[in-house]
Amino acid sequence: MKILITGGAGFIGSHLVDKLLYEQHEVYVIDNLSTGSLENIRHNLENTNFHFVHEDINSYDVLYDLCSKCNLIFHLASSVGVKYIMDNPVKSLNSNILSSISIIKIAADLKKRIVVFSTSEIYGKNKSPELRENDDRIIGNSFRWSYSIGKAVAEYYCYAYGKEIGLDYVVIRCFNIVGPRQVGNYGMVLPRLVGQALQNEPMTVYDDGTQVRTFTHVNDLVNILSLIVENSEINKEIFNVGSNNSISIIDLAKKIKAITSSLSEITFIPTREIFGSDFEDPKVRIPSNDKLLSIIGEYNFLNIDEIINNVVEYFIKTYNFEPKSIFEPSMKCR
Ligand code: UDP
Repeated sequence: MKILITGGAGFIGSHLVDKLLYEQHEVYVIDNLSTGSLENIRHNLENTNFHFVHEDINSYDVLYDLCSKCNLIFHLASSVGVKYIMDNPVKSLNSNILSSISIIKIAADLKKRIVVFSTSEIYGKNKSPELRENDDRIIGNSFRWSYSIGKAVAEYYCYAYGKEIGLDYVVIRCFNIVGPRQVGNYGMVLPRLVGQALQNEPMTVYDDGTQVRTFTHVNDLVNILSLIVENSEINKEIFNVGSNNSISIIDLAKKIKAITSSLSEITFIPTREIFGSDFEDPKVRIPSNDKLLSIIGEYNFLNIDEIINNVVEYFIKTYNFEPKSIFEPSMKCR
């Protein structure tokens, strides 16, 4: 197949590129390299089945042309990370809302199948111990929730075009996807804590660290995507994708400290000092995978120790551990 991936130079997108090229598909990527990196796709640049377009997806004509060429679209391009979104409000709204509306409309007009990446943030402050796809979205008032709302708008556009003109779509709600190539710059907790631990720097746990998240390795996500997308009968559906690796952030920090034999001190920082006093951090975020497993069957997710070990290995192999270097936008690679 000819497949377009928006945001294909990003953390998740670049792993999807690897998987699809391995499966012998022809892959087109459009990415403005704002939060993605050429380093993530450099190893594919010589592959004749790989085509990289360095462009913003708000460039309508380029996007339309790429969509016309392909049979399947994965829409990942998006501003990511709570910190990035709080620091870049206009850019984030544009990429999360405007560009999503644009590509979903193009897919509908051209009658192309589209997989739209959404987020567990959709559920907002819903504290259910098992979030199901039709559960309530409980959203606060502050700008922090703009990411959640932007993704909800994209989901609604899929639904609307699906209902009115038969758009063939799948929405994937990702729960804390982690793994190699993810960077800590934009706030993601696991690479931040691993980087801090490996450099024996203070490990930054926000608030009291009792927040619970469910971490899923990016390889599991791309494997699951293949299983879902291959099945053309799966159409106009929304899926949670998340493992059963639920853990509090303080326990995660302790685990990372132990695995890396780090001398770091675990410190507690109030989120209001970082994001302002109206910032709300969801307390618990655990997916129900019942709908997903009913489609793909049993699936063995990598466990949290395997995930941490893999990320640690990647950090050691990839970065020079000069003080702070791993948090700079231009990462130094060996
Ligand atoms: N967090 C933390 N220390 C950090 C970065 C994040 O304790 O250096 C916390 C954050 O407050 C949240 C959890 O880790 O409760 C997961 O944060 P992340 O940004 O990775 O993903 P989110 O679940 O917020 O989308």
